[in-house]
Amino acid sequence: MVEDILKALGIQGEQSGVSTGAYWLPAHGAIITSVSPVDDKKIAAVKGASREDYDQVVATAQEAFKEWRHWPAPKRGEIVRQIGEALRQHKEHLGKLVSYEMGKSLQEGYGEVQEMIDICDFAVGLSRQLHGLTMHSERPGHRMYEQWHPLGITGIISAFNFPVAVWSWNSMLAWVCGNVCIWKPSEKTPVTALACQRIVDTVFAANKVPEGVCNLVIGDRDAGEWMSHDTRIPLVSATGSTRMGKAVGAAVGQRLGRSLLELGGNNAIIISQDADLDMSIIGAVFGAVGTAGQRCTSTRRLIIHESVYDAFTARLVKAYSQLRIGNPLDQHNHVGPLIDKAAVNAYLDSIEQVKAQGGSFLVEGGVLSGAGYESGCYVKPCIAAVENTYAIVQHETFAPILYVMKYKTLAEAIAMQNDVPQGLSSAIMTLNLREAEQFLSHAGSDCGIANVNIGTSGAEIGGAFGGEKETGGGRESGSDAWRAYMRRQTNTINYSTSLPLAQGIKFDF
Ligand code: NAD
Repeated sequence: MVEDILKALGIQGEQSGVSTGAYWLPAHGAIITSVSPVDDKKIAAVKGASREDYDQVVATAQEAFKEWRHWPAPKRGEIVRQIGEALRQHKEHLGKLVSYEMGKSLQEGYGEVQEMIDICDFAVGLSRQLHGLTMHSERPGHRMYEQWHPLGITGIISAFNFPVAVWSWNSMLAWVCGNVCIWKPSEKTPVTALACQRIVDTVFAANKVPEGVCNLVIGDRDAGEWMSHDTRIPLVSATGSTRMGKAVGAAVGQRLGRSLLELGGNNAIIISQDADLDMSIIGAVFGAVGTAGQRCTSTRRLIIHESVYDAFTARLVKAYSQLRIGNPLDQHNHVGPLIDKAAVNAYLDSIEQVKAQGGSFLVEGGVLSGAGYESGCYVKPCIAAVENTYAIVQHETFAPILYVMKYKTLAEAIAMQNDVPQGLSSAIMTLNLREAEQFLSHAGSDCGIANVNIGTSGAEIGGAFGGEKETGGGRESGSDAWRAYMRRQTNTINYSTSLPLAQGIKFDF
């Protein structure tokens, strides 16, 4: 099956991981072997970029920008529309590859490709709406307005858990804005990145897009560091852990470049005494175990009103007993593997820390073994009763560990929801309008995403996506997130016959 998918996506044998478009450069860096967490089998070997390869890509991208920025934005949008069409044609193969290389369920693999298609559609419309404001000048015979210009190279560093969608959120917008892109995907998912590059190559070649508009640099964190220190790259959009974001933010800030950071979350759902408990169970369980707890928006904490705590946790335990864990390509399974053994060890370590810090397990965790679990990456989703103040609860463990805790008043629940270093996604389940509005008010959730009667995970592309505090403050995808990819210029034009100065200043000679 995998061979057929790779063949359909144009990937065979050992691959170069460096491309400036239709032209694939011979790579000179270390070989990265992609191994599936599903069955521990090798998918492909990819040769990563050396520093010299990287410099060549940047130089080509700089040249390409000089031409690409002159293409009218709607024409660039038309090319993005064609990428959306190509993705529709490849949805099945690419979705399966995402599922196989990353380990998320097949439905979520398809969903990720659909998200790419959706952002293409969004970007096409956007290509005709890159608008600025006009202002009234204080001086007669003057006109004032603002324009948005492309920045140049957008560097994209992405994480393993959304191996293709996050790249598309950035690149489709960056392209219609007139930028060129260099993508450094996660070293854990290089093959899906190759597949995306090939899909875009075909569309770009048919439209005679200059070489260097869509670039790929496969490598480990060194390649990410080259980008964040590189003054030729005005914007670095980085998705990953808070640890990574602090390093990238510091490096880019040091050279006064721009960074767009999409980092870790520690997302909670408040389950009120006025919640629809049937809906709440679905939201909580999908949020906690979907993608095996490896979404930035995964539900990590449930803050439950004391009056419904026992009933709700009993239903949670029952729901967990019905979860099917196994090969994510089998649509009967709810939970697939973690990405690798290091993630399994981090999960086990967190379980030990929960116990050491005083927590108790309502559903025990553990690593699965035996037939179907040979990769050693399948773990049991577990539930622990904890206090919000435990150090381990304040930390994002990228695995299906769900923390439950009690509250008495809504003010206390909101304070607990906010009392973590991260600020990505949050939700309240309640049918009480007053509670819902308080949760959404200035004194409510401090997260970038706040939902009512929907869980924390699964955002639509139409809204701006991102979070506050240690989540990094960046916004991507919908709304006016496009502005991050452009520079604003204020223009004043004098069509009078004199030269009055602003603020009435006189300068006669
Ligand atoms: P990671 O931080 O280990 O790696 C992410 C990317 O950063 C990789 O491409 C890696 O090579 C690169 N990198 C690592 N260190 C770097 C450095 N010092 N300089 C430059 N680049 C560096 O993250 P991961 O394990 O791949 O992904 C999981 C994390 O990503 C979680 O914390 C999750 O919450 C977060 N995430 C956030 C969002 C969001 O939108 N907020 C989306 C997806 C994932």
